[in-house]
Amino acid sequence: MDFSEVLYKVSQHSLGVLGGQSLPKKYVHLDLSETNTDFLKYDLSTSLKFGQFVDQYLMRHGADVAYGGYLEVRNIYKRSSYFNTVDQSNRNIHLGIDLWSPVETPIFAPIAGTLHSFKNNTNFGDYGPTIILEHLYDGFTFYTLYGHLSLASLEGKVVGQKFEAGTKLGTLGDASVNGDYPPHLHFQTIKDIQNYTGDYPGVCAKEELEYYKKNCPDPMPLLKLKK
Ligand SMILES: [Zn+2]
Repeated sequence: MDFSEVLYKVSQHSLGVLGGQSLPKKYVHLDLSETNTDFLKYDLSTSLKFGQFVDQYLMRHGADVAYGGYLEVRNIYKRSSYFNTVDQSNRNIHLGIDLWSPVETPIFAPIAGTLHSFKNNTNFGDYGPTIILEHLYDGFTFYTLYGHLSLASLEGKVVGQKFEAGTKLGTLGDASVNGDYPPHLHFQTIKDIQNYTGDYPGVCAKEELEYYKKNCPDPMPLLKLKK
């Protein structure tokens, strides 16, 4: 059984990560890839303008959460040198899904797990406050990463702490702490965490894609979000 199949089997129903299982939300897909010509019309050079774009997008679609981004090739990372230092190749392929929703939206553990690690990743364009959970399902160990949280989300956290499915992990941070983005959750599934703690690459370069797409498959088979 490959990792994607494991993720698919974890749950038969859709798993809420924003607002929990009991608060159904309306989701709309948002494509931020450089090939989306619609999106290129907008000026997203600052988190303020980017945020206004997201707010209008949600309103236009009558949705609570805009989601998407797995393996999208994105222009938005060009504003930070943090993503452009690996062998001169750009790290611009996104390895998780993003869930765009207002600041302070609560984040819940979609499945049971233990706290592997947490950290405030403070580079410009980075995750800001980040939590990684470790899960054991049917003999498989894997990890889920929650990036762009509020600072308060890390308070009182202890490595090894247990979280049942549906318990609150934290809340979404704003641009002042989350790497300078409009509020959103970066959610990523990881098979081998390697030696990382509180951090794991969320974007990669084209040359690294074969490895990363196996190690970090699409989280949608796990979350099964309803549009
Ligand atoms: Zn992301």
